[in-house]
Amino acid sequence: MIISMKRGASREQIEHVRERIIAFGYKVHSIEGEERVVIGAVGVGDTTPAIEQLESTPGVESVVPISQPFKVVSRQMQPSKTVICINGTSIGGDTFTVMAGPCSVESEEQILSTARAVKAAGAQILRGGAFKPRTSPYDFQGLEEEGLKLLRKAKQETGLATISEVMADADVDLLNEYVDILQVGARNMQNFALLKRLGKLNKPIMLKRGLSSTLKELLLSAEYIASKGNTQIILCERGVRTFETYTRNTLDLAAVPALSELSHLPIVVDPSHGTGRRSLIPPMVRAAVAAGADGMMVEVHPNPELAFSDGAQSLTIETFTKMMKGLQPYLDLWKAERKLDAI
Ligand code: PEP
Ligand code: MN
Repeated sequence: MIISMKRGASREQIEHVRERIIAFGYKVHSIEGEERVVIGAVGVGDTTPAIEQLESTPGVESVVPISQPFKVVSRQMQPSKTVICINGTSIGGDTFTVMAGPCSVESEEQILSTARAVKAAGAQILRGGAFKPRTSPYDFQGLEEEGLKLLRKAKQETGLATISEVMADADVDLLNEYVDILQVGARNMQNFALLKRLGKLNKPIMLKRGLSSTLKELLLSAEYIASKGNTQIILCERGVRTFETYTRNTLDLAAVPALSELSHLPIVVDPSHGTGRRSLIPPMVRAAVAAGADGMMVEVHPNPELAFSDGAQSLTIETFTKMMKGLQPYLDLWKAERKLDAI
């Protein structure tokens, strides 16, 4: 529920309301507003008695239940957008974030040359899988810790922040040591034990939409992380499985404005896994910018033909660089729109 205090409510009244919320067995989740204090309370069970009592508590103007099943990540709870700061860059603020790099970290030469090139083209975050969720157990599974060391080396040399996928609970500490953002892959979106564990970290998490998950399910998975205390969550639309076979998945760009209506969390679009085809990535990136995404994640490889995974959807360094140049007028419009939204 959301408790709006009266304008000019005293410190004691606000503190008393917080104490009452805790006494009801709920968690206090946010307090905001310059002139008016708004308190979020989240918990389980019937909220009717708490709402009735809090409505007649001194200093309280109104108490409204949060209508969505997800609470902490809902727009209702926090009207302003979440901005996540990482390594001098931000996601959800007034810059469109570019995450780029190979599907898998394969060698020092491969990751360093990609890192230098994507940085020069304007990326802020380097991606690279060290633990790979492959459909076949006989496919390349990733370099594991060796891959994470190479990502760290690339960060030290280029200054780029890094993101890599965590597949299992047992690997959380290892990933946390090496990278700036932990990615939860589509196949793990409903690995609730992993989500709960990530909720206790003080580290941004990028949560990818499951292969056949609804937006409500995605947001409830984000709620698993947020309800444990970690609200630094980035949502990622990476396409869902439909009857179409020409594209690897169907990139659901309506998810971008829809998620933005429902939640304050930043939203990133991944057209690489969303389409599976190199040629479709530049137009879908432009579409993601137009739809108001906070950033993109794309796969880039110095020699896609030789890639250990996802070569067909990886951009070459040249095509990535060209795409970034061509994106500038779209990014200028994106920025202008952000400014208008802020007014
Ligand atoms: C990836 O980003 O490398 C990946 C495996 O993506 P997804 O989980 O979306 O399939
Ligand atoms: Mn991939």
